[in-house]
Amino acid sequence: MALIVQKYGGTSVGSPERIQNVAERVIRTKQAGHDVIVVLSAMSGETNRLIELTKKMSANPSEREYDAVISTGEQVTIGLLAIVLEEKGFPAKSYTGWQVRILTDDSFTKARISSIDQDNMRKDLNEGKILVVAGFQGIDSNGNITTLGRGGSDTTAVALAAALKADECQIYTDVDGVYTTDPRIVPEARRLETITFEEMLEMASLGSKVLQIRSVEFAGKYNVPLRVLSSFEEKNKGTLIVSEENQKMEQVVISGIAFNRDEAKLTLLGVPDRPGVAYEILGSIGEANIEIDMIVQNVSHDEKTTDFTFTVHRNDYNKAMSILEAVKEKLGAEKLSGDTKIVKVSLVGVGMRSHAGVASTMFKALSNEGINVKMISTSEIKISVVIDEKYLELAVRALHTAFELDKGNTDN
Ligand code: ADP
Ligand code: ASP
Ligand code: MG
Repeated sequence: MALIVQKYGGTSVGSPERIQNVAERVIRTKQAGHDVIVVLSAMSGETNRLIELTKKMSANPSEREYDAVISTGEQVTIGLLAIVLEEKGFPAKSYTGWQVRILTDDSFTKARISSIDQDNMRKDLNEGKILVVAGFQGIDSNGNITTLGRGGSDTTAVALAAALKADECQIYTDVDGVYTTDPRIVPEARRLETITFEEMLEMASLGSKVLQIRSVEFAGKYNVPLRVLSSFEEKNKGTLIVSEENQKMEQVVISGIAFNRDEAKLTLLGVPDRPGVAYEILGSIGEANIEIDMIVQNVSHDEKTTDFTFTVHRNDYNKAMSILEAVKEKLGAEKLSGDTKIVKVSLVGVGMRSHAGVASTMFKALSNEGINVKMISTSEIKISVVIDEKYLELAVRALHTAFELDKGNTDN
């Protein structure tokens, strides 16, 4: 007998029929002799609807109340699934985050889980009950409801699996695994049999929303066997996230291509080229709690001035622009410009460590399509470029072909 945590995303619980399907799979797992904890998202579109409602009330709602509202979608689905399971003769019990006591810090809208009480869940499992836990939500030490950031149900599932030392955490979604890139953009994308934690972490942080970043962090840290599967196919193997030692020796260079449409670029032209300027610019952005992603400082042409470019989340663009207006005046910079019509495309693969020439293949493929690269950043296992938004699909397709990901050499 194993303990299995199964998480079902929004599309998988998007209608009463789909909740019935989820119940069938949960029951099959239970009947195979396993203990099951189910983690659910809200019905697809529901969290967005709730967010819109808060916006109708205020342009700047209190974060406590915002979380109180947007966490409610999950309470509906867990109750409905528990009702269906009981109806079918399987004792079940729904749990909200606070009923479990999933304790988080108090960073509303992006809270981090600090501990999980196991006692009640263990007792119910021992009594043979199927537990149905609300994803995405927790409670802080003052009793306030918190949420874990968009896509946070993945993290709830992995955190529960880690706390209860589950044998596997299964993330059921609308695709049958992690693909070489988003299959909605590239139909030739191929499912990966396995992907390393490190690669999955990069893919997630570079824009592949198939798993929330924190869920991958948790799984890596606590060694939770994590699998992504389809809830729409009765039997499928999905993709197992593995540690690098367990990855097959003969590795491909690039495992996947991620992209992010949420970035915006800001440039200060003609800023004095002297110590402390980067701090003046980025320090003021950091103080406003705006996260900076890529940064490029140009070589100075006249040894007096230089240009400084960085990217932020599009939601932070206007705020960052107004901060830079002030910085521009203070530094006596020549010009401030910005661009919200950019995207970031990234290649990810642990194989990059031992293979040269990835960057040149990437730039050749992009240049063959006439795509201009605006910014570049690299790390050991990724290369990212910023390009015009209008070339996103073309770029991802061209790179997918250039690195022979279409051909099926990824089914390791
Ligand atoms: P859920 O609601 O089940 O949490 P998500 O929408 O959060 O589902 O995640 C699944 C989606 O992730 C897929 O429909 C797919 O479009 C997208 N996706 C992006 N990149 C990838 C990838 N590399 N492999 C698989 N799916 C991906
Ligand atoms: N319902 C939440 C969201 O839409 C959490 C999740 O689906 O994982 O972001
Ligand atoms: Mg998701």
